[in-house]
Amino acid sequence: MRVMHGEHTYFMTIFGIQKETLDLLFQMGRDAHPNEFVALLKERDGIIDEINLLPGTVTGEKSASLFFDMMPLSTHLAGSCHSHPNGVLLPSDADVHFFPRAGRFHFIIGYPYTQLDWRCYFSDGQRCRMEVIR
Ligand SMILES: [Zn+2]
Repeated sequence: MRVMHGEHTYFMTIFGIQKETLDLLFQMGRDAHPNEFVALLKERDGIIDEINLLPGTVTGEKSASLFFDMMPLSTHLAGSCHSHPNGVLLPSDADVHFFPRAGRFHFIIGYPYTQLDWRCYFSDGQRCRMEVIR
């Protein structure tokens, strides 16, 4: 995303995700289990600190894809997070297809939803390093 800032033009950078935000995502994963949940992540000053949960319960990859398809674009949209109740932390083909519609950074969290059960990916499905900010 290109942002005009005074005389300078720069690309929005994401430095990391707030630990509280990540903890909340794990909680949402536990609450939704064995169903899947999908949420949008928003950033402020380059740090992901807001979750927009979608209305309704999402079950399975097909529904998650459908959701990405209908999603409105928004400024400060950093990416998405969804859960894989089967515990597999790799993006599915459907995920990679729809990631580009939902921002640049995509979290997958999986059963059993502990601090270790997450990965972050770029829109093309490549693994992405993501700082957890305490
Ligand atoms: Zn998925």
